[in-house]
Amino acid sequence: GDASLDIDTLVIGAGPGGYVAAIRAAQLGQKVIIADKGKFGGVCLNVGCIPSKALINAAHHYESMLHAADYGLSADNVGVDFGKVQEYKGSVVNKMTSGVEMLLKANKVQLFQGEVMFINEHEARLFNDQEAPRYRFKNCIIATGSRPIELKPFPFGGRILSSTEALSLPEVPKSIVVIGGGYIGAELGQMYAKFGTEITILEGADTILPGFDKDMSQLVVKKLKKNKVEIVNGALAKSAEQTDKDVTVTYEVNGETKTVTAEYLLVTVGRRPNTDGELGLDLIGIKLTDRGLVEVDDQCRTSIPHIFAIGDIVPGAALAHKASYEAKVAAEAIAGLPSKVDYKCIPAVAFTDPECASVGYTEKEAKEKGYNVKSSKFPFGGNGRAVTLGGADGFMKIISEADTGLVLGAQIAGVEASNMIAELGLAIEMGATVEDISLTIHAHPTLGEITMDAAELALGHPIHTI
Ligand code: FAD
Repeated sequence: GDASLDIDTLVIGAGPGGYVAAIRAAQLGQKVIIADKGKFGGVCLNVGCIPSKALINAAHHYESMLHAADYGLSADNVGVDFGKVQEYKGSVVNKMTSGVEMLLKANKVQLFQGEVMFINEHEARLFNDQEAPRYRFKNCIIATGSRPIELKPFPFGGRILSSTEALSLPEVPKSIVVIGGGYIGAELGQMYAKFGTEITILEGADTILPGFDKDMSQLVVKKLKKNKVEIVNGALAKSAEQTDKDVTVTYEVNGETKTVTAEYLLVTVGRRPNTDGELGLDLIGIKLTDRGLVEVDDQCRTSIPHIFAIGDIVPGAALAHKASYEAKVAAEAIAGLPSKVDYKCIPAVAFTDPECASVGYTEKEAKEKGYNVKSSKFPFGGNGRAVTLGGADGFMKIISEADTGLVLGAQIAGVEASNMIAELGLAIEMGATVEDISLTIHAHPTLGEITMDAAELALGHPIHTI
């Protein structure tokens, strides 16, 4: 029918951007409808962060069992039933996605499954149902996320996988060639390597994990070599040829043409924003950047003032916590609050082994900003907890202003770096100095003491390193 249903806020997409925006808007008294054409939870919960971390966790336990002797243990008949591993992953995903639906309902958000299409800048309908009512909205938050970039010579299908298919293989493959050594390629490649897959990573840059300092990525490279992963830097993948049992990739390196054959080819070269297609952004005239991202102001407002955009479809790091952060700002802006985005402090984490995590400025960035920089690098080997965890290989760097001790950034490569980076983020947000951190008593023996030690190192009186 053509009847219009009036709502306050329409949220399009239920990933970590959309579902958080819907909940926050509802908390602020809005009548909210959220729609997703796929599964609630978006990429992050269904085919991104959560399933990848579940598989990485299983791979970690398997690797530990193979090295049981390191702890004086014996574990005979250690094996992998990958179908069961996939069941475990699925149960984690289901638990998290049903949790999201429960939270939305508990906040009285109305849920719809279906593709949203704009009719004009005040109305939209669920595209897959012509009988569906039109929704007339006062405000809209677009959070339609992104999808894997498909390269012309390597169309997805058959033996050529995107991260989505790579997360759902029924068996441990014998071999995989990975194009792209960013965090997704490195995480998934290392996960399968731990299960016994022969992995070859073809990376165009001179290092994998190019987003992190080289001393961090080098630690991961060292471990990847132990996992028997072959890394080819400066590699330009050209073409692929599939048979029914394998795929051969042709690439160039140092002016030479080479080939590598494997059971699968995984292409992880970045993600493309879902701003095209049936959604109709062009129809209503929302301004996009030349890369197809939605242009927004510091409240995530698009060129149409009552329509907001957040997450992977707007400029900046394509990370779940950035999407959720912007979600809260947009919902609050709609409610008339003076919230604004401040990107000073967005952590970035690679869940490789060891983990890499960074927040605020790197040493190089701080220097470029004109700071007189002090960089203090504390080794995990000086921390009792890290050593008990078998994680002596690692370090934390705190970047501070030499004269004032103001914390400007931090980088961690090591066990649990992902969890440890939070304290440094808080320090930066609060304008803490390295002295503030050094005066904070950290429980012993914990990895948190590394933060205190790195701060003491910056102050020139380290206890646990020389
Ligand atoms: P998405 O999560 O992409 O959700 C968008 C939703 O919108 C989808 O559910 C889609 O179905 C829906 N949609 C699209 N168009 C329409 C339409 N027209 N109508 C209705 N619905 C629509 N990030 C991290 O921070 N940490 C990690 O460890 C991490 N690991 C990752 C691992 C992998 C393998 C991948 C692929 C990504 C990972 N990411 C990680 C990135 C993270 O998943 C994304 O940054 C995040 O999901 C973006 O959230 P979003 O809300 O913008 O969009």
